Amino acid sequence: MANVDNFQLLIRRPGAVEIAPAPILRAPGPKDVRVRVARVTLCGSDYALFNGRYGGPGTYPIRFGHEWSGIVEEVGEEVDDLSPGDRVTGDCSKWCGTCPSCANDRNLCRHIGKFGITEDGYAQQSLVAPRKYLYPDHHNLPLDLLALAEPFAVAMHAIRRVGTHGSDAHDRTVVIGAGALGVALCLLLQKCFGRRNVTLWETSPARRRLIRHRFRCAGVDVAAPSESVDRYTYNALYGGDSPRVVFDASGSRSGFEIALRIAGPRATVVLLGFPVEPVAEMRHISVKSLTVLGSIGGTGEFPQILEFLSIHRDFIEPMITACYPYHDVENAFSAGSNKDRHIKVQIDLSKEADSHG
Ligand SMILES: [Zn+2]
Ligand SMILES: [Zn+2]
Repeated sequence: MANVDNFQLLIRRPGAVEIAPAPILRAPGPKDVRVRVARVTLCGSDYALFNGRYGGPGTYPIRFGHEWSGIVEEVGEEVDDLSPGDRVTGDCSKWCGTCPSCANDRNLCRHIGKFGITEDGYAQQSLVAPRKYLYPDHHNLPLDLLALAEPFAVAMHAIRRVGTHGSDAHDRTVVIGAGALGVALCLLLQKCFGRRNVTLWETSPARRRLIRHRFRCAGVDVAAPSESVDRYTYNALYGGDSPRVVFDASGSRSGFEIALRIAGPRATVVLLGFPVEPVAEMRHISVKSLTVLGSIGGTGEFPQILEFLSIHRDFIEPMITACYPYHDVENAFSAGSNKDRHIKVQIDLSKEADSHG
């Protein structure tokens, strides 16, 4: 059964995105919340699912949407900390909260699902979700900014994997790949962790211009990759001002290879994306005694991120480069695929979006 007053957005299969009637909503259970979704932000994972090139586990057809904001419409009888009208965002990770893995990191739950990737997500005008996956906004954030919480939470989670204890604010840090995640990493490292020497590396000149234009005021330093180590000798590998920490947010094999090459002795290299190709030059890990870490998910970071978005909202707002009404979903995907013009493209799910299409 379907509901013609409530629409959802599906990636039916690679290359096919569509509007479909939503399934009939069940009444919220005692621990559930009915939410009217306002904005969905498209993410690299959404484009990759659409293009059939997603490197993580995924499924089709899928209702996408794991970066989103909405307004509470109705709460179950045991939900006593949310009320109709509250603004919320939510987890991408669908965690259980009781398994041994959840005790350490809910993004690695033994029973994990990923909303919008392996489980139907939030690109639906009205839906019912368990309270435990929702985070209320206490900072009066606009709904477009609130729909950026998830990628910032993912960036925060990666930074926490490294930790900043025992390191110096002036230690050189390089972030590879000026996607939204790369920009979020830079903003957090500088404004939340006080890092003074952070550079964002990006190969595309047009993309560098876009980032420079939009984040000049925020102090994001974007540059073309420059690798000074050109000889494979111990002096070259151990000398110079090589980075202590490198984040690879490029999602590409070449990005990770650059990260391994430029990392200094005993540096930490953090991989965020899911590059599918094998990586050469593994010897850098042993020769330079590197620590290589992976990071996935942003669950656990939302409350602090919502505060961060609130404090730095003027610096973060330029990340949103377009917003399309939901019935223009195909154009949202094709526009957002142009990385020289767009950083974050959003979809307006509200019923009012009917009128301004
Ligand atoms: Zn995402
Ligand atoms: Zn679990």
